Amino acid sequence: MICFGPIPSRRLGKSLGINNICDKKICTYSCVYCQVGAKQRYSIERELFYEPKQIYMEVESHLGKLNTNDIPDFLTFVANGEPTLDKNLGESIQLLKKFSIPIAVITNGSLLYNADVRAELAQADWVSVKCDTANQRIWSKLNRPISKLNFNTMCSGMLSFANQYRGTLVTETMLVDEVNDHAIALERTACQVYGLSPSIAYLSIPTRPPAVSTVKPSTPEAINEAYQIFDKRGLNTELILGFEGTDTGYTGNAAEDILNICAVHPIREDTMRELLAKNNSDYSVLYKLIEEDKVVELEFDSKKFYLRKH
Ligand code: SF4
Repeated sequence: MICFGPIPSRRLGKSLGINNICDKKICTYSCVYCQVGAKQRYSIERELFYEPKQIYMEVESHLGKLNTNDIPDFLTFVANGEPTLDKNLGESIQLLKKFSIPIAVITNGSLLYNADVRAELAQADWVSVKCDTANQRIWSKLNRPISKLNFNTMCSGMLSFANQYRGTLVTETMLVDEVNDHAIALERTACQVYGLSPSIAYLSIPTRPPAVSTVKPSTPEAINEAYQIFDKRGLNTELILGFEGTDTGYTGNAAEDILNICAVHPIREDTMRELLAKNNSDYSVLYKLIEEDKVVELEFDSKKFYLRKH
């Protein structure tokens, strides 16, 4: 099946998924946390999968079956592997533009050294690039790239794309316990991400069964530290911890506001105080959430922060 959804996405609203890679996973990486599964074909050569016309027709038929309320905010290439391995990606994006729905692509960025890939991706309205680490050793361990990929070439490809791209560029950094989440590595990652000037730098954790069963998400302390490091670097940083937080400001429901906001940003103690006051509420609401194990209190730089528990 080429189309699925639309599925709710905090980043994209209602997102109609397009899988432009046929059959089993084909990727330039074999990330230890991959949720598509452990079995795959490694590849670095772009190839032909579906005809763009076929993708267009499947999207057209899928859209035709949806209620008006379900019309997607984005058509999103989120493949069974790496979507830029598809030689027809650019042509498919061009055709899909006829629907006047913004096009998003979620890529691992490893092929951005290729000028054709950059030109094709540049036609999309929103692109998410994976940026888990700026350290070659960690990259090899975490993303397990195909041997023909060169780390420095890959990094400069991402930079070239970021410099030429006029759409919305975001980055995604997956935090894996004791692999890429220690402070020195995170400082370097933040520096690399900063160089790409993303509109939002997302920090996420594995929330579904990973390809390697021993992989664990970073601890709340490490997630908070990563957030603070990215934030200090001047990045507009958001967390994706598996909750569709809406970051609603204050709504009159203190518990809901706390859960929504701290799923996206750790809430500092002074902000928490303000949020509770605005909601005409008090700390008993927060303590209840901590007791219920929904929120965790952490200390960083001698300040208290509250984070949604994952
Ligand atoms: S880049 Fe994406 S599809 Fe490829 S192995 Fe990593 S997580 Fe899986």
